[in-house]
Amino acid sequence: MKVKVGINGYGTIGKRAATAVGQQDDMEVIGVTKTRPTFEAKVANDLGLPLYVPDGSAEAFKAAGIKVAGTIKDMYKKADIIIDCTPGKVAEAYKQEYSEAGVKGIFQGGEDHSLTGISFNASANYKESWGAQFSRVVSCNTTGLIRTLYPLDKKYKIQNVFATLIRRSADPGDSKNGPINAIEPSLKLPTHHGPDVQSIMPWLNIQTMAVKVPTTLMHLHTIMVRLSSEVSTDDIIALWKRTPRVKLVKGKDNVRSTAQIMELARDLGRTRSDMYEIIVWEDGVKVVGDTLYFYQAVHQESDVIPEIVDCVRSMCKIEENASASMKKTDKAMGI
Ligand code: NAD
Repeated sequence: MKVKVGINGYGTIGKRAATAVGQQDDMEVIGVTKTRPTFEAKVANDLGLPLYVPDGSAEAFKAAGIKVAGTIKDMYKKADIIIDCTPGKVAEAYKQEYSEAGVKGIFQGGEDHSLTGISFNASANYKESWGAQFSRVVSCNTTGLIRTLYPLDKKYKIQNVFATLIRRSADPGDSKNGPINAIEPSLKLPTHHGPDVQSIMPWLNIQTMAVKVPTTLMHLHTIMVRLSSEVSTDDIIALWKRTPRVKLVKGKDNVRSTAQIMELARDLGRTRSDMYEIIVWEDGVKVVGDTLYFYQAVHQESDVIPEIVDCVRSMCKIEENASASMKKTDKAMGI
């Protein structure tokens, strides 16, 4: 029997989660929620996804010609698990509702680790969410850092990491918040990204800084890692070539910027032009002495999506083996 998944918040992450869940053969989307009768609510109707809305707002949807299946609370009754994709910091109240309805809940990186006490990354700690009622898939940037650093630490033992995150100012569909015509440093230092990585790798010595820049496409990280031993550049590249959801590209092949990475995603025919993998520039990886330098790019709208699918499998006890779940997810999503 398929696990029944409800999606609360059908925005950037929610609509991608709905597509990815729908591509799996062991889970199905039983409904999505919208708070207002927008074009996305109409698309949900067109795609045949049952649409659930806040108490008292059904009339507004009906007036806009949009079919409504019930209230958000009605959706809980049909679901085994809710993927909460509401904007950061509104999930606290929903957690209470999911608890009362006896339904599981996956939260996103906009929430603090303390909301759930468990954070998720498929490669690093799949088992920690096994059977859990609540878990949190870490943010796009944290997912990016863990994808490359976890295998590196496991194989070569990291002494410390220093990373600067060059962040997109808004998502492409967001004309309200940007893009900004400025470069804006995060002044609260070190930034929260290091501690967020530690919610999954508590032993890792990592410090981060961040700046926001006028782009919508992707984030880019510049990373320096002190390793415990001297390792060659080729060894590191070989390791990441074997690492799931990490993709190496070359400047030499004319993949020089986030613009070409997005073009590559389009050329690969990816759904919504998404790039689920963390992109590392092979000719931008360099070891000098015990220090590794590299750049990586993160497609903020989509890198967490395969992680969300694996988190459903761990929490609903569908597949015990992390790498088996990851392979299944990736195959279904065309990664
Ligand atoms: P979004 O604004 O694109 O989508 C949020 C959706 O929730 C919208 O459809 C909105 O209408 C709906 N919503 C708003 N208030 C609601 C409420 N009270 N109840 C139900 N639905 C409500 O946001 P997003 O970018 O998809 O972010 C969702 C979560 O994912 C956040 O925690 C965010 O930090 C995290 N996240 C975002 C990104 C990214 O770059 N966009 C990447 C990784 C994780």
